[in-house]
Amino acid sequence: MAGIFSHTPINVPQQLFFPLFSLQHRGQESAGIAYRKEHQTVVYRDIGMVSSVLSRYLTEQRSTTTGIGHVRYSTHGGNKVENVQPLHVVCNKGEIAVAHNGNISNTRTLKSMLFEEGSIFQTTSDTELLLHMISRSRARTFYDALVETLQMVEGAFSMVLMHGDSLVAVRDPFGFRPLYIGRKQDMTVVASESCALEILKVTDYRSVEPGEIIVIDRHGQRSDFLPRQPHRRQCVFELIYFARPDSRVFDMSVHEARKRMGASLARADESRIGDIVIPVPDSGTSAALGYADEADLPFDFGLTRNHYAGRSFIMPTTSERELAVRMKLHPVREVIAGKRVILVDDSLVRGTTARILVGLVKDAGAAEVHLRLSSPEIRWPCFFGIDIPTRSELISNHLTPEEIAATIGADSVRFLSLDLLRDSVQPPTDYCYACFSGRYPVDVPLTAEELMAGSRRDTAAAGTRGDSP
Ligand code: SF4
Repeated sequence: MAGIFSHTPINVPQQLFFPLFSLQHRGQESAGIAYRKEHQTVVYRDIGMVSSVLSRYLTEQRSTTTGIGHVRYSTHGGNKVENVQPLHVVCNKGEIAVAHNGNISNTRTLKSMLFEEGSIFQTTSDTELLLHMISRSRARTFYDALVETLQMVEGAFSMVLMHGDSLVAVRDPFGFRPLYIGRKQDMTVVASESCALEILKVTDYRSVEPGEIIVIDRHGQRSDFLPRQPHRRQCVFELIYFARPDSRVFDMSVHEARKRMGASLARADESRIGDIVIPVPDSGTSAALGYADEADLPFDFGLTRNHYAGRSFIMPTTSERELAVRMKLHPVREVIAGKRVILVDDSLVRGTTARILVGLVKDAGAAEVHLRLSSPEIRWPCFFGIDIPTRSELISNHLTPEEIAATIGADSVRFLSLDLLRDSVQPPTDYCYACFSGRYPVDVPLTAEELMAGSRRDTAAAGTRGDSP
């Protein structure tokens, strides 16, 4: 997600292409932009990657002041063309476009209330809810209606909005998702990660604060704040897996944070087995470096990633799934053969890919494969914008690490503990760890069935709203 405002008209759609391209890892299903043209908002959006949907803007001249853009992967509402962002409406508060990163956790309640009162929804995305609420607000101005709406929604919402020619950036009071703002000469850029600012050579940037609302227009830039929460709840999974390693999120280097997680994992690994540390690229690479440094073991690229393979495909049969993983990752036999391999990945979800990967490394001649994960066991779904499956699908709800090793064919499996994960980020009290602990910072719509799905391995407090992990 990105937004640009320039006091002097520039080719905003073209400039938006680059930050969105840098943020492609945050969503590969669809892409879109909205920009101002002769006092109207033009929207172009479609299913597909940035390079295919938006490359037309690289060569055409469209001089304007304001634009926003989005890349999407669906955690709410599915991958339908009507859900592709930015969403755009003309209503009693003017012409509004919005691009949203996160999930509104009380969508169900708010949507059914509006539905009962006659609202017609054109998408199944939670973002549309915001536009309905802004339009229906009795507040006189767009800005007051926006503030009123933001105080009614819960969960994760880092957003950029366009209201007429003005650009608005918002981050929810818990600060679940990252958001950065920076400036170069006349141009202000807002984006989810710092890598998206740096591609435009914007080096003077800062984090949008949790609860901050920033308006940028021809009069300048001003900030206001929603009522503050006692603690931030930044998504620790951004640091573990989601963000790009060359980015800063939550004012921390993603690469350095991952290295610390890997080093902690090695320090706690009393097994001391292994001849070589191999990452599962790309998200396991920084953690594997940290592990190898700490364990004083050689590090090498024993798996090569094909960068043209895109996302893992969902294939119905085991052999097809194996082929899909092989299309993406392939072993380097010369690195692996005869070695006791410490294979470092960021996390374990269903275990399907891990089983295939362990098989690949063993087939390449590894003497042993010890899987190390730089995050704790994922046991709970996320309601704040990361696509984690249901509890019953999460392997750690059914099996202990020893049982997982036996199931995926590894010689051992170890996870980073929650305490050590907390020690890897600063300050630890500013983060959400709910997918590991089950303690959510806000009320979430967990069904009784979901609560029971992991009961074999649950602690009494999990699944409740609780402020500490
Ligand atoms: S539940 Fe997990 S993935 Fe979701 S916001 Fe919290 S830490 Fe991030």
